[in-house]
Amino acid sequence: MPHGRHVHGPGEVIAVDRNYVPMQEISRRKAICSVVAGRAWILDAATFDRHADLATAFRLIVFPHAQACAESKLLTGRLERRVLKRDHFLCMYEGCGSRATTVDHVVPLCQGGQTSWQNLVACCLPCNQRKGGRTPDEAGMKLKRVPKGPRAHLFERFEQIIRDATAA
Ligand SMILES: [Zn+2]
Repeated sequence: MPHGRHVHGPGEVIAVDRNYVPMQEISRRKAICSVVAGRAWILDAATFDRHADLATAFRLIVFPHAQACAESKLLTGRLERRVLKRDHFLCMYEGCGSRATTVDHVVPLCQGGQTSWQNLVACCLPCNQRKGGRTPDEAGMKLKRVPKGPRAHLFERFEQIIRDATAA
């Protein structure tokens, strides 16, 4: 599993939904756990086939059951990368100083929340998971500041991975 060659951070692997739309970055450890648990599979970036070997370096992982709340397609991805940059990759929930690797819908999609600058914030994975499909109030969480305005990232990385893989 870990090779110790480089630091394993939270953004090592890009998680995509069943349409191969990038959703968020996750750690390699988290990715492996998801595969072992049967919630996801590794995607070969060059062929887009299922990739079975956990031991090799992989950068994409498919969560086939993701996006159950629907809606957040390409538009979300494009906005996501900008939201993370806007928030300087810091979790926007009060009391949390973690690096943000995901984007949270403040009002969840399944509760009618919009995919917009005003409803998206950078969020660390634990906070995102803790919050789940709830509003901050329902989850007892507070935002550090009101979300607004722009920036970019996840799709660029995704596209770079595909380019690297197909060039190799
Ligand atoms: Zn957090």
